[in-house]
Amino acid sequence: MKKALSIFLTVVLCLFVCNFSAYPANTSELKKKISEADEKIAQAKKELKEAKDKQVSAEKQKEIIDNQISQIVSNIVYLNGQIDSANLQIAQKEQEIEIAQAKLDENKEYFKTRVLSMYKSGTSTYMELLFGAENMGDFLNRIDMLQYVVKNDKKIVDEMTEARDAVIEAKAVIEARKADLEDSKTLAQQQKASLDSALVQQQEIIAQLGEEVKINEQEAAAAQREKDALNRQLEKELAGYNAPSGGQTSYKGGKMAWPTPQGGTITCPFGYRTYPSVGMHTGLDIGIRYGSTIAAAEAGTVIKVVNGTTGYGKYLMINHGGGVVTLYAHSSKIVVQVGDYVERGQKIAEIGSTGFSTGPHLHFEVRINGTAVNPIGYIT
Ligand SMILES: [Zn+2]
Repeated sequence: MKKALSIFLTVVLCLFVCNFSAYPANTSELKKKISEADEKIAQAKKELKEAKDKQVSAEKQKEIIDNQISQIVSNIVYLNGQIDSANLQIAQKEQEIEIAQAKLDENKEYFKTRVLSMYKSGTSTYMELLFGAENMGDFLNRIDMLQYVVKNDKKIVDEMTEARDAVIEAKAVIEARKADLEDSKTLAQQQKASLDSALVQQQEIIAQLGEEVKINEQEAAAAQREKDALNRQLEKELAGYNAPSGGQTSYKGGKMAWPTPQGGTITCPFGYRTYPSVGMHTGLDIGIRYGSTIAAAEAGTVIKVVNGTTGYGKYLMINHGGGVVTLYAHSSKIVVQVGDYVERGQKIAEIGSTGFSTGPHLHFEVRINGTAVNPIGYIT
């Protein structure tokens, strides 16, 4: 039992060491660094998103303040209009008061003169009126008439005083309303002042967030550049290297699997062609529905993943050992990374039409020691 366990452990250890030593020395170190760079990219992107979200809500907040300010400004404009019209009304009332007062003064003066002359000078028409009485009855009648005249004069003065006082009162009401308007205007101006400073503050926040966004974008870009450099280094490491293919270190020359397991038809064979471009067609075009699975034709190590906008579009290459490499182009999505070991038939990408392509298809190449050969001889 003890011996069996010891053999088992030796085998496990051997497998581990063999597999490990089968890779170039710093491949795993590079992979570790790449995944660290991935984490950095994810973190920078997360922070970037947060800063952008904050920016959006800060902009919204600024918009709210802007709206409040324009509301207050139009309120101040309205209040100024009201105050102007109150001033006009007050001026008008002042004029009316002046006129009423002048009329009153004039009449008072006139009545006063009349009464004075009546009682004091003795030469007025009133006295003549009295002394001109023919008898006692006539005299008394004339006294009544005189009293009536005096009473009437007083009534006129009273009415005129009332009329003047009414105008004064109306003016006071307008003045009180104007004072209220002035108070409202002062309040609105205070509110505007505090909103103005809130706006300045908000603009500072937005500017700061803009800086934050810029920094995060730079960080994300730097992490991406770092990852790209590491990937290139890893590709170099793996380029001349024969990956273990199901335990083997060189290609055994067996038939490869059809790279689109869901079917597909050959739309353009390997060889010289005139359409869509004139020249050597270095692979096999397999037409199939967009999004269909692209599978590794044989086990191997992914040595190149390009997500750029090359003629091949998004493409990848797998090294199967023994100088045999396959290439899969025009994909819509690649699901493996450089350095991944893939099994025969394992999904590696999805059908697309990226790069120089006239429709969804897989451009499949088989390269022997760097030279493209007709894949027909290699796949089942
Ligand atoms: Zn092609």
